[in-house]
Amino acid sequence: MEVYTHDLIILGTGIAGLRAALEAAQISQGELDIALVSKLQLMRAHSVAAEGGTAAVLRQDEGDSYELHAWDTIKGSDFLADQNVVDFFVQEAPQEILRLDHWGIPWSRREDGRIAQRPFGGHTYPRAVFAADKTGLLEMQTLYDTLTKHTKQLRRYDEGFVVSLVIENGRFIGLTMIDMLKGHSVFIRGKALILATGGAGQIFGFTTYSETVTGDGLALAYRAGLPLKDMEFIQFHPTGLIPSGILMTEACRGEGGLLLNNQGKRFMEVYAPAKMELAPRDMVSRSEMLEIEAGRGFPGPEGLDYIHLDLRGLGREKILERLPLIREVTLKHIGIDPIETPIPIRPVAHYTMGGVHTDLKGRTGIENIWAAGEVACVSLHGANRLGANSTAECLVWGRVTGAEAARYCKTVPAAEMPKNINQAWAQVEALIQSTGGEDHYQIRKELRHNLDLTLGVFRTGEKMETGLRKIRELKERYQFISVKDKSLRYNTDLIRAIETGFMLDVAETATLGALNRTESRGGHARQDFPARNDEHWLKHTLAYQAENGPRLEYCAVDVSMWKPVERKY
Ligand SMILES: Cc1cc2nc3c(=O)[nH]c(=O)nc-3n(C[C@H](O)[C@H](O)[C@H](O)COP(=O)(O)OP(=O)(O)OC[C@H]3O[C@@H](n4cnc5c(N)ncnc54)[C@H](O)[C@@H]3O)c2cc1C
Repeated sequence: MEVYTHDLIILGTGIAGLRAALEAAQISQGELDIALVSKLQLMRAHSVAAEGGTAAVLRQDEGDSYELHAWDTIKGSDFLADQNVVDFFVQEAPQEILRLDHWGIPWSRREDGRIAQRPFGGHTYPRAVFAADKTGLLEMQTLYDTLTKHTKQLRRYDEGFVVSLVIENGRFIGLTMIDMLKGHSVFIRGKALILATGGAGQIFGFTTYSETVTGDGLALAYRAGLPLKDMEFIQFHPTGLIPSGILMTEACRGEGGLLLNNQGKRFMEVYAPAKMELAPRDMVSRSEMLEIEAGRGFPGPEGLDYIHLDLRGLGREKILERLPLIREVTLKHIGIDPIETPIPIRPVAHYTMGGVHTDLKGRTGIENIWAAGEVACVSLHGANRLGANSTAECLVWGRVTGAEAARYCKTVPAAEMPKNINQAWAQVEALIQSTGGEDHYQIRKELRHNLDLTLGVFRTGEKMETGLRKIRELKERYQFISVKDKSLRYNTDLIRAIETGFMLDVAETATLGALNRTESRGGHARQDFPARNDEHWLKHTLAYQAENGPRLEYCAVDVSMWKPVERKY
């Protein structure tokens, strides 16, 4: 096994990881040696897919305010967001937009030269800053370009697949990794770790996320003893393209797109008359499903009945200027030009509101591990995230955790070597030697199908019990898988097998958390418990790994600013 030593390890190179790296490099002023690890090539992180925008208050002179952004976020979260966290976030986000501006990002602009902002669901003011519909890609590029000033301090481990975190005496010591390019096993020793590994969209079959978003960091943290918080809250985005699930950004509706049923009616006037298409995502997704279930959708392939997203009213010019990627995708994938024809869409699994439990500073329960971005649950989004708040979260807590971890690394001595380095590798060795008859690709397929059926937009206790039984059956079968390719170099068979193991753990925490929560709140809509129940459930779920599956505990929500009220739009 090859061994490398660094001060700070940043695991993940999406917006959160790159922003953390930049802050840590700036703070350390050449003193710290930073490792950047990604199972993909650096610029392939899923953040490049973010389309529509990044939320921040820039126009206090024109009517927006921190208070309004905070209220929108808290109401959108169905009052499960921690209000002190939201308060901090809304004040930090604008500074991140301006920093990116100074670093050269080509934000879309208004005629008067000021940074343009567009409406997004659940926001009462048009506050999504954007770069056409390629916001994430351009944020990533800008962060990466700026980071190149610090290359002397950085060591990149691209295509390094992390398999486990090594914890001794309650402290992080390092991580084990497969260097896919060289085909080596690697141990990277570090004084501190920032986890920035993104979400877990792939646990669902119909999802906006790429194949690589398999919840690895969530499972790594969970197996290292850290609790996962609020995992039952999955966001279903209202506009996933039929049949692939590719995202049709909320900016489509922000720019004026309509949702129509098979009678040509804007059905949102029944469900959210004040906000219409720009109600929060959980509400719009539920409304679409109710229309489809009432027979007012269009018949689609493989049971994927759908609704129309109609952009025709925007006109050719606006579509070409503001939504060029959307047009390119619909033309390429389904041969539809949105300038002339409505787009077939339905709700699609999109975002993991839950994640590794952190405090306001991104600290986890292990002193030298921080988490930022979608893998973390700092409790900004509660039960339902508002669009454009995620990339903003990645920037804000990328900066915060980068600064915190860098300062920490300056004060502590180098990490020790683990007592038994090979023990950390044993799990991979066992998989390579495995000869079982179960097919891990089949297990992944069944898992994803199972979650589509049992943990979708509408849930019931009965469905989730079936879903949980199925996950546990799949976990049992997973013990008897084998990988056919026995090498380490670009062994996608092995990587997929390990990812599927991670996905099973993540799916189990989400389903158990949802089954236990006998109420409806935000993205968790139970037909057998349709009302929100603040008396019993105004609390966060914490899932700890235990011998027979997750052990659940609960902790308080910060409601220090606004008392929860009924959520109407
Ligand atoms: C299609 C789409 C559009 C979106 N549009 C918007 C938008 O307009 N506005 C908005 O606010 N949000 C949007 N979101 C959500 C937002 O893009 C994501 O939440 C955010 O980009 C996540 O960034 P991240 O840095 O946390 O993780 P990611 O960008 O997912 O990066 C994860 C990193 O971790 C690495 N990694 C993971 N596992 C391992 C492992 N085992 N070993 C080594 N490395 C590993 C990956 O290689 C990658 O580098 C969108 C999401 C999707 C799917």
